[in-house]
Amino acid sequence: MKLLRYGQPGDERPGIVDNEGRIRSLSGHIRDVGGAALLPASLDLLRAVDISQLPLVEGTPRIGPCVAQVGKFVCIGLNYADHAAETGAAIPQEPIVFNKWISAINGPNDDVQIPRQSTKTDWEVELGVIIGQGGRYISEQDAMGHVAGYCVVNDISEREWQIERGGTWDKGKGCDTFGPIGPWLVTADEIADPQALNLWLEVDGQRYQHGNTGTMIFSVKQIISYLSRFMSLQTGDVIATGTPPGVGLGHKPQPIFLRAGQTMRLSVEGLGEQRQRTVSA
Ligand code: ZN
Repeated sequence: MKLLRYGQPGDERPGIVDNEGRIRSLSGHIRDVGGAALLPASLDLLRAVDISQLPLVEGTPRIGPCVAQVGKFVCIGLNYADHAAETGAAIPQEPIVFNKWISAINGPNDDVQIPRQSTKTDWEVELGVIIGQGGRYISEQDAMGHVAGYCVVNDISEREWQIERGGTWDKGKGCDTFGPIGPWLVTADEIADPQALNLWLEVDGQRYQHGNTGTMIFSVKQIISYLSRFMSLQTGDVIATGTPPGVGLGHKPQPIFLRAGQTMRLSVEGLGEQRQRTVSA
């Protein structure tokens, strides 16, 4: 199932994409795409619904973030060996963990704001994992049973604030609009192997990133198990699993960064496409 949220910011309604790519309302079945609606039993109930009988949503509404009530937005850094190399960093021995503040969460096609005084705003296409059943001390063997679904994430990053300003990476990762998620939450049953997905990102029509989740250093199940040793993972948490090569910071012969008035397009295979315009904050 491709679940989504449509409507104005703060007033999104739950929907589902039908076989013809049209949005149909799920308001008669769930209150929102979030919370208890993401638990396995609830998703099983939705699977039994005849989608063709659901009300069609008219027009082309704004698409909101694909998950409501996100409690945590946890990210893994330098999780593709070739991306670690382009940034000049060593391959991590354990997953690098950082956070994006949940106020950074944005719709997949909403404008991305270049923060005031930023000179190094950058892009990162990533596979996002959305937790269904929560848990703590989750084994790798059980990890995939905790996944409600997957989505595209653009882990937008201010590199100076991330790397050159001291402290953790978080200062450069959680600015408002730095966390587009969606367009859809694609339920886990539709993704046969999350470690075999192509992903790419373009700026103004030029492809900068392309990779495959098969080259992750730490796999989705390893990441879930690892994180759950340090925190309880809870329903609706979003995990961004790292980015393949081709970020602006690693561009040769010199880094390039975003400026207002540009357009990013990005996708992960089977999870839809995002498109964002950059504007000044
Ligand atoms: Zn990232």
